[in-house]
Amino acid sequence: MKDWGEPRFRARQIYEGLYKHGFDSFDSFTTLSKALRKKLAENFVIRRLRQVDSISSEKDGTRKFLWALGDAYKIESVIIYEGRRTTFCISSQVGCPLDCKFCATGKMGLLRNLTPGEITEQVFRMAEIIGSRPTNIVYMGMGEPMLNYEAVIAAARVLGDVDGFGLAPRRITISTSGIIPGIYRFADEGQPFSLAVSLNSVDDEVRKKIMPVSKKYPIEKLLQAARYYTEKSGRLITFEYVLLDKFNSTQQDARKLVRLTHSLKSKINVIPCNSDEELYRPPSEEKIAVFRESVNDRSRRITLRKRKGWEIQAACGQLYAENERRKKKPKN
Ligand code: SAH
Ligand code: SF4
Repeated sequence: MKDWGEPRFRARQIYEGLYKHGFDSFDSFTTLSKALRKKLAENFVIRRLRQVDSISSEKDGTRKFLWALGDAYKIESVIIYEGRRTTFCISSQVGCPLDCKFCATGKMGLLRNLTPGEITEQVFRMAEIIGSRPTNIVYMGMGEPMLNYEAVIAAARVLGDVDGFGLAPRRITISTSGIIPGIYRFADEGQPFSLAVSLNSVDDEVRKKIMPVSKKYPIEKLLQAARYYTEKSGRLITFEYVLLDKFNSTQQDARKLVRLTHSLKSKINVIPCNSDEELYRPPSEEKIAVFRESVNDRSRRITLRKRKGWEIQAACGQLYAENERRKKKPKN
């Protein structure tokens, strides 16, 4: 706006039009002069995500979306309803380079990072489609947010800004597989958003097998980083723990999990793996119950929350995979 000789506040009017009001055409910016609207339309486009596919769970309303980006790539987002909460689960990358063995997104490899606009758009589009706002946003879709740090934070700032999308920043959660430098950076910058770490195992050898990222960032160092964050921010940290049969779901694992995390200001989300592959599948209901109880019994500081809908619906990356499969199927 400065380059165009416009007053400073024009920039804010445009920002609010885009992010607070969600205008998708420059004609809607009625606070601006007609001439300026025209000039904007000549120089810029407001690009929206195109919906390619959407599936809903009849059981609990969980709804997944597949979006086409401006290029050939596609990404997923999910809406999860749980009591009074409506959680939007969004992607930060197309694919993911970290190759966790139980994760559908991991199989894609990294195709590219998302831009801040492509990240915020997932939220705007879903809010538009369901006609209501989320109570929470989690970066638990495709990708590793800490490997696209700048764009993820830029998008979160818009989503958590009163003149932007206007959700309280602590209701926006960044989830990481344990990229330690990212955790320190997040803590040192005093980011107002919440942080979750996908721990998924308390044994280095096992964790290395299911999450290759652990070779570079071992559990002890990861927990040190988590402690640094909780102490620096005064906030609690969430540990995600995906239960995988034969890997991480014994009573001993549960006890060790409590032992390693009980002195940290934290909560634990235990989530049964939702894929049903030969190697990576959830434990039996019985084992899940034992695990939950063993974690629960041993510390009051730890709350357990089952991520509803997650287990009956495909995890992020799976709708994408399904769509690719369908495309490849020969037509006859
Ligand atoms: N890359 C980040 C955020 C995206 S993955 C991370 O790993 O934290 C979001 C969450 O989905 C992680 O907690 C991951 O462990 C979990 N997840 C991946 N595949 C899953 C599966 N098949 N079943 C259940 N949870 C899964
Ligand atoms: Fe990437 Fe997270 Fe999937 Fe691991 S679990 S491959 S870090 S998206």
